[in-house]
Formats: sequence, C-alpha cells, structure tokens
Amino acid sequence: MPGLRLAHKVAVITGGGSGIGRESAILFASEGANLVLADINLEACTQTAELINERFKGGELPVRAVALQCDVSKEAQVAAVVQKAVDEFGRLDVMFNNAGIMHGADDHALNTEERIWDLTQEINVKGVWWGCKHAILAMRNNPTDAEKGLHVGGSIINTASFVAIMGAATPQIAYTTSKGAVLAMTRELAMVHAREGIRVNSLCPGPLKTPLLMDFLNTPEKLNRRLNHLPLGRFGEAIEQARAALFLASDESSYVIGHDMLVDGGLSKAYVTAE
Ligand code: NAD
Repeated sequence: MPGLRLAHKVAVITGGGSGIGRESAILFASEGANLVLADINLEACTQTAELINERFKGGELPVRAVALQCDVSKEAQVAAVVQKAVDEFGRLDVMFNNAGIMHGADDHALNTEERIWDLTQEINVKGVWWGCKHAILAMRNNPTDAEKGLHVGGSIINTASFVAIMGAATPQIAYTTSKGAVLAMTRELAMVHAREGIRVNSLCPGPLKTPLLMDFLNTPEKLNRRLNHLPLGRFGEAIEQARAALFLASDESSYVIGHDMLVDGGLSKAYVTAE
C-alpha cells in the first residue's frame, strides 16, 4: 500500500500492554502492520489489541492485533509468541524487544539484593536475547514477495536506555547494567547477522512519563531531582519513542544497523540546562 510505512509487514512487540509498547503498537498498526503483542500482563495487552482491532478494522488495508501472555525471560514463551506471528500472519518482519523492568528495590552496589539483580538481568537481558534468537530464526525463513516489498530478513529493535550511555548519581545498578548489556548485545548481533538482511538496532529512551518511571519517582523530591536536568524541561512521552521505533522498523532505516538511537530530549548532550 503506497504511503503506509509498514504495509504488509508483521511485527511482534513485547511489553505491548503499556507505555512505549502500547504506543508503538497503535502507530505500527496505523502504518499497515499486523501485530502480535506480548506482555506478562495479558489484560493490558489484550486492551491494546482490542483498541487496534476496533480502530483499524475497516481501513483500506485492514490490520489485526493478537495478544498473548508472555514472560520474556522464559524462552519457550518467547518462542511461542514468534511462532504465533508466523502461524497467524505467515512471517515476522519486525521484532521489538521492548519489555523491561526497573525494580523499586534496585539501588547502589552495596544495597541491591542479589534477587533484584538476577530478576532484572533475567527480564531485561535474557528476555532480549530470547527475542533476538527466535526472531532471527523466523526472519531467515521469511518468504519474498517483491510486489508487496517483502523480503527475507527483518528489523530487530531492542529497548535499552540513556542510562547505558550516561552516568547517574541516582543509582539503579542492576537496571543500568542490564541496559549496557542490551547495547553490547545489539551491536554484536547487528554485525553477525548483517548479511542475512537482519538489521538490529537499539532504542535508547530518555526519562519518560510512563508507569515504569513514574511509579519509581513517587515523591516530588525524586521527580524534581531529574526534571532539573532535562533540557526541554519535561519528561518524554511514549509516543515520541514509538515514532523512532517506527523509523527503525521500516525500510526507511535500511542503512542503519548496530545503532544506539538516543531519543532523550538532548539529555545526554547537556552540561547545564537553561534556567
Ligand atoms: P511500562 O512499565 O509502561 O511498560 C512495560 C511493559 O512491560 C508493561 O506492560 C509490563 O507488564 C511489561 N513487562 C514487564 N515485565 C515483563 C516480562 N517479564 N515479560 C513480558 N512483559 C513484561 O514501561 P515503558 O516506559 O514503556 O518501558 C518500556 C521499555 O523502555 C523498558 O525496556 C524500559 O526499561 C525502557 N525505558 C523506559 C524509560 C522510561 O523512562 N520509562 C527510559 C528508558 C528506557
């Protein structure tokens, strides 16, 4: 479909029940993608799918979203999500490994319990690995349809964070470490699979007005400690991340691989901010 940036493509989005995942799902659907949405919270993920199915059912290029419960740290569950995309829609063009946690008990190196460390790495790092592994296996088998602009391979987007690039004196050692691992994993995957037509990039959001951060910043002191450093004077919105994810998902980013795409409102470039 001319004009639609993801026409005929099939995408999986993890963490599709909230924040970046939900906004990306709606945006990808509006650009012609069929979707499998995965989340540990099935109710939230089903709400996203229902919203999409209602909003886009009668369009020129009707699209559909399917919701599945999935804990991304469990390989069999991630494999089932990818398989659902292939069974339901015949292929997988875009894998957005976006689900992640930032635990309220994550702190500095001396205070963080081993169970918080392990849980964070299981979801934020191993979950991305499983998503990449099963996406690569599926993308290798994608049928080619030149007329529809469909080909072997695809685009994998892994959500990291600006904290993988900048130091912060408000510590969350397990989370920061996990996101650094996502960046390193993404770069290596991008190089290893480049010649298979599989592009792998990271999205590095700045601090956002989504439940993940807002639940964590539960006092005015905690909020203002961060707000003060933001060049634009505000937290980001999930839709502003979704727009960058759409670029990475679409063929418009065909020469972009192994990239840490920072969408941080300039935070990583700031020494001091305007008063
Ligand atoms: P969010 O909390 O709004 O959404 C995260 C979703 O992931 C939720 O629906 C949750 O149920 C799901 N989820 C949690 N654990 C899961 C698991 N084990 N398996 C499957 N799904 C699971 O958060 P968000 O702000 O949209 O965050 C999305 C991604 O962006 C995360 O990887 C996060 O680390 C990253 N990020 C967020 C910010 C921010 O400020 N919000 C900044 C940088 C990076």
